[in-house]
Amino acid sequence: MTIDYLMLINGRWVESLTKERFPSINPFNQEIWSTIPQASEDDVNDAIEGARKAFDTSWKNVSGLERAQLLMKLADLLDDDAERMARLETTDNGKVIRETKNQMHFAARNYRFFAGYADKLYGEVIPMDNPLLFDYTLREPVGVAVLITSWNSPISILANKLAPALAAGNTVVIKPSEHTSATTLELGKLIQKAGFPDGVVNIVTGDGRVGNLLTQNPNVNMISFTGGTETGKLISRNASQNLIPVSLELGGKSPNIIFEDADINAAVIGAVAGIFGASGQTCVAGSRLLVERSVYDEVIQKMIDKSKTIRLGNPIDPLTEMGPVANKSQYDRILSMINTGKTEGCKLVHGGHPVLDNELKNGYFIAPTIFIDVNNNSTIAQEEIFGPVLSVIPFEDQEEAIQIANDSRYGLASGIWTSNVKRVHRLAREIQAGTVWVNTYRTSAAQAPFGGVKMSGYGRERGWHALLDYTHIKNVMVDLSDNTRDPFSMQM
Ligand code: NAD
Repeated sequence: MTIDYLMLINGRWVESLTKERFPSINPFNQEIWSTIPQASEDDVNDAIEGARKAFDTSWKNVSGLERAQLLMKLADLLDDDAERMARLETTDNGKVIRETKNQMHFAARNYRFFAGYADKLYGEVIPMDNPLLFDYTLREPVGVAVLITSWNSPISILANKLAPALAAGNTVVIKPSEHTSATTLELGKLIQKAGFPDGVVNIVTGDGRVGNLLTQNPNVNMISFTGGTETGKLISRNASQNLIPVSLELGGKSPNIIFEDADINAAVIGAVAGIFGASGQTCVAGSRLLVERSVYDEVIQKMIDKSKTIRLGNPIDPLTEMGPVANKSQYDRILSMINTGKTEGCKLVHGGHPVLDNELKNGYFIAPTIFIDVNNNSTIAQEEIFGPVLSVIPFEDQEEAIQIANDSRYGLASGIWTSNVKRVHRLAREIQAGTVWVNTYRTSAAQAPFGGVKMSGYGRERGWHALLDYTHIKNVMVDLSDNTRDPFSMQM
């Protein structure tokens, strides 16, 4: 039996005004397991109006302490519901249950982290040259924030946005990906249960047309987006028409660099986690593995050996290590990129094909794929594939490693595997990326800021830095003197 979800607008669970719906498909067995409303323009406007009204009325009078308590309550509810939420997420996007479960608790941790800031967002008193001027700042919420997310980690990505937005006193309209809307709508139920006032959190669903309407609306004060770089550009263009700030978390083509002085076994595990974890469908995927020539053959052999042992299967089974990719268009795109790698002469040493198997229900499975001797200029080394496809690239020395690592239009994440401490800090400065992992990969924490440079976007999520995107500074200047100033000698 399919579940027919509704949208959350101004505290009410509603159908789209046009009654239009679309199916959500389980990528493991390709069955339609739920249906989702396709929001109309009127639904979008209602949601934004609801968020605006709540911002101007009820939410404004909720103290920082109360906001913190609501966020803490939401975190508790999410932790308690993690198992069920993870199963729904896995059903929706095919990500293995061991990861989706972890992500539910990680999201809860993020709500708690930002809850801690809700009553500590204060300004500062600024000393003036003139002692009879008293100057201070207020840190204020921006207003109505639109939060648009991708399909690969809906609840975890949403927490990066929603937690700081609410902690800072904003109201929001959320639009999850059309491929994975269910758990965001389920979270809406937890948000209501936690006691957030009506209209503070609104959730509208649908495809890119809904995102386009949201990001063009003049009553929106900021946009936070996670998704592809091309969509990010469109959103940035929309935002420019209303001159509102945008935070963009976009794609990547991240270098994971192994030096000869690394713990090679640990580095291989890190490289596997980097590209085959989540079937490579993560923005930070270490899709370019740069390996120092002296350990090149050894690393490749170990990568192949390890890849042979990866357990593909039903993502709902806790023993499964790699599930299917999330949808048909993703599946087709990955296979086409593998083909491009072959035609451009990259040397395929492992995988490179779909895995068709009755036990796997003919789901969208693609074998862990390794290309070696890849030229960094080739398409598979420059384009984001968002699948389990690794390009291994040799380098001769540290300088060449830096040059290859930075020879990319993206700048999201990077990894360095070495035991040389000088090298660690030298590369940490030289590599053009928002994150540099050292002797680890795909590790994250609520406290650590995350985001990109270059075509990977701008703005930061997690860490207190995220609050900067959801607040603005107001300056208050008070004249304490009794004298009237000369009206023609002011500086501004
Ligand atoms: P996508 O850009 O196709 O879609 C993302 C969201 O944008 C969806 O909700 C979609 O409906 C919406 N959208 C589509 N067109 C729109 C438009 N014209 N205006 C407004 N909204 C629109 O991306 P995707 O396929 O869902 O996700 C994969 C991409 O996301 C990859 O490039 C990946 O690297 C990136 N990603 C980045 C991060 C990060 O933190 N940097 C995290 C996860 C995924």
